[in-house]
Amino acid sequence: MRLGAHIGTSGGLVEAVRQGRAIGAEAIQIFSKSPQMWAGPPVAPEAAAAFQEAVRAAPPLATAVHHGYLINLGSPKAFMLRRSRTAFLDEIRRAELLGVDGLIFHPGAHLGSGPEAGLRTIAESLRGALEAVPEGRVRLLLENAAGQGTALCSTLEELHSVLAAVDAPDRVGVTLDTCHLFAGGTDFRTEAGYGAFCDRVETILGRSTVRAFHLNDAKAGLGSHLDRHENIGKGEIGLPGFAPLVRDPRWTDVPGYLETPLDDDGYDRYVEDLAALRSLLAAPEEAPARPARRRPVPSKK
Ligand SMILES: [Zn+2]
Ligand SMILES: [Zn+2]
Repeated sequence: MRLGAHIGTSGGLVEAVRQGRAIGAEAIQIFSKSPQMWAGPPVAPEAAAAFQEAVRAAPPLATAVHHGYLINLGSPKAFMLRRSRTAFLDEIRRAELLGVDGLIFHPGAHLGSGPEAGLRTIAESLRGALEAVPEGRVRLLLENAAGQGTALCSTLEELHSVLAAVDAPDRVGVTLDTCHLFAGGTDFRTEAGYGAFCDRVETILGRSTVRAFHLNDAKAGLGSHLDRHENIGKGEIGLPGFAPLVRDPRWTDVPGYLETPLDDDGYDRYVEDLAALRSLLAAPEEAPARPARRRPVPSKK
């Protein structure tokens, strides 16, 4: 896995790349505007070009934009739905300008209209967005929800139902958040649990549909449906619980972004979280290589 993190852009886009590289991230996720606002100032083409150049400098980083929180592509309310679709199109266009690999978004919430109606509305929203940007290169990645409230797509089956209805496998995909998976009741902490989870991913989604991970420990227990991120190793998943996923060679080229809590010391907590995850790669659980047994040297004669 390409280990990285969500980086703030208050210092500018190129500064975010610099900060990401400074903490040893191989992948960075950003917001392209304030996530609490419907709209933001346009992305200046020169700033976008500088960002792309910084990202592509060796070694190149994997990149994603995370969309704003106000958007609900599954809303049953006509006005909110229209507003959400307009804002989502703007998110896509900004992400296209920035040339990122993926636009990660929360599929939506049904707000009482029921999962079936909500999932149908989300698929219609996505189809409309793809048609509006026919030349789009940024992959639209549905993020699994923790299952809080009426949020949709907390299961692989719901994610699949939207992807199947949209039927554009070369333009869409999925981001799996470890905290949300765990809160949704998936226990991937053991080799057996992780194996069963991978089998379900393969059967329901297809492995190549998964284009990114969010690597977050969970403050709340298995199946809590609470979306509460914790630093790696400090939560209910625990550091060993990340081992099967992080060590799986099938995800070598897939980015995994931290969205763990930070404190006043800048990105120090990310540095610790990345070090913890990398320690899993450096010290596999197999018995350490033992010194070769001394064998009597056979005499040549
Ligand atoms: Zn998210
Ligand atoms: Zn979350």
